[in-house]
Parts: sequence; C-alpha cells; structure tokens
Amino acid sequence: MNPLAQAPARVPGFELREATRLIDSDGSVRTVTLPADTQTAMWCEAVLTGQRGLIEVVRATRDGDGQLRMRSRRDPAGYVEAEHGAGAVVALAAKARGRGEEVFACPVPKAAPEPGRSSAGRGKLVWVDVDGVCDREAAESLAELRPHLICHSGGGLHAYWRLAEPVEPDRLEALNRRLCVLAGGDRACVDRGRIMRLAGSYNGRRQRWCRLLVVDRSRPAVDPARLAERVEDPDPRPPPSAERPSRRRDDPLEAIAPPDYFRALCGVHVEPTGGDIRCPLPGHEDRYASCHVWAEPDRGWWCFGCNRGGSAVDLVSVMNGGPCGRDLGGAAFAEAHARATSQF
Ligand SMILES: [Zn+2]
Repeated sequence: MNPLAQAPARVPGFELREATRLIDSDGSVRTVTLPADTQTAMWCEAVLTGQRGLIEVVRATRDGDGQLRMRSRRDPAGYVEAEHGAGAVVALAAKARGRGEEVFACPVPKAAPEPGRSSAGRGKLVWVDVDGVCDREAAESLAELRPHLICHSGGGLHAYWRLAEPVEPDRLEALNRRLCVLAGGDRACVDRGRIMRLAGSYNGRRQRWCRLLVVDRSRPAVDPARLAERVEDPDPRPPPSAERPSRRRDDPLEAIAPPDYFRALCGVHVEPTGGDIRCPLPGHEDRYASCHVWAEPDRGWWCFGCNRGGSAVDLVSVMNGGPCGRDLGGAAFAEAHARATSQF
C-alpha cells in the first residue's frame, strides 16, 4: 500500500496551517493561515501571471521503498494553459491530494505537451532552490533578496521572482545560476524544464507539506537586466573548454562532431543535427533530456542538469570520474586527451 495515501488524513494540515506572511499590493503586511487550495492558487498567481504556453502539472506516488513514481507525463490532461491555469491547476492539485499523491509543476511554459527541457520556451519567472535548509534564518536571508514568493518545499526553500519581460530559455537559466550564487541555491535546479513542488501539496519524502512562507504582492516584476547586474553568471556558455588555451585547431579530436563522439564514447545516439539526450554522465540520474549535444565540434555539449560540459576530452574525463572545463588541466587533461585519442 502506498503509505502516503493516508498522509493527508493522518496529518490533517497541521503544518499547512502554519502562518504565511502576506504582503498586499498596498504594502500592508498580514499573517494568515491558508488552506491548501488557496496556497496552490497563490503559487499560480505568482508563477503563472503574464506567462503564455502550457504548464505541466505532474502527479506522483511514492512506493513503499520510498521511490517516487511519476504518472505519465505525456498525458495532455496534465498540461494547462498558463493564461487561465490557476483554476485548472488548483483542481488537479486537489484531486491529487485526495489520492495521497505528490504534485509538481513546471514554472516555465511549454510549447507542446512534452516533459523535459526541449519543449520549454521563454519564461517570465526565475527561481532558486535552497536545499536542506528550512530554518527561520535561512528564510529571512532569502527574503532579503525580495522574491515574490517563498515556499517551504518540505526539504528546503524555493523562491520565485516574476520578471518584467519574458526572457529566452538560455538567459532564464543563466539568471537562475546567478540566483544560486546569491542565495546559496542548488545548481542542479536551474534547468528550464525543471518541475517544482506545488504549494499546498504533500512532500512524502519529508512527510511535510509544501507551503507558502512569504507572498509579496506589493513588489513590481523585476527587470531581468538589473537582476543580472547583481552577480556574474558562474557558468556562462559556450562550454568552458572552448576557452581552454591548450585547445588546438590541428588536433584531430577537434574535428569530430559531438554526436559522433557521444556514440563512440558513451554508446548514446544523437541526431547528426544535435539534440537533447538523457545525461549519460556518472553521478547524474537524469530523468529527462537535460544534456544538450551540439552538431558543431567547437560548441561541444553541456548538461543543464549537472552543469558539466565541453569537448570530447571533457567527456572522456567525466565518464572516468574526472573533472571537466576549467577544472581539467595539466596531467589530467593530457591523460584524458590520450584516452580519447586512443578511442578513435
Ligand atoms: Zn548531467
């Protein structure tokens, strides 16, 4: 039996009734306790407002062994139009809650009803996931960055900022990386295709509710350029190896197309025109296609889930448990280079 089927009844919203700090549009501050549906609706208000496209709502059950099992993510019924999504998302979340399911949603709208990052388009929202800390101090330091919403996910804190204008997916991820630096967030959660726990849903892993801590309706949407000014992008594209001084144009490895070396080194098929694949790297269990492989050798590859990428040499190094990019140099680079060369 799914142990969570009983959870909402066994824990009758105790944590859910913990207070939310609600800052109204006129700046007045109230401390309120909100039912689950209202929490989900407020999450939608902050996250979906001004966005266009499909928002994916993912329901999941947890097995007796604690493994999360997502329901089909290809079912069009799991996708709702962002423009009039709050009602539909609230209804889906309520239904899931009644079944003891956990609920997630993708903050970036999709062009098509498909999971993963390749269908995620422009977004009018950025976020940070600060894993493992849920104390008051952490929430207060996050609140200093004035997000529009802070959720307690059950296992950490999620903060969201609405943007004054939509940004391209690459820029959105770059802004998320900057926010990670500012807030000490988890760099694995910057992916445009990321799904986040929905406020008003149950976190079965932690046996706690995902709930709203702060809702700020007074703050205007943020200018993405001003947000970007605050801190450097820690992982700017193109992949770091493009700047490696030891990169030589006469190196035969440099002429091999990334789809070809992925097939040879990892046994993974990539279309010759490039594309997104499930990350084959050790240490990253990629549920979706987070790893992008370009067609051109000088662009290489990059995994947006585990933030690793580069050239064929980087791939060999990472596949053997080594570093990549700026961290791969000297003897380790020579060894990985020799190993890569020997495989072609
Ligand atoms: Zn990866």
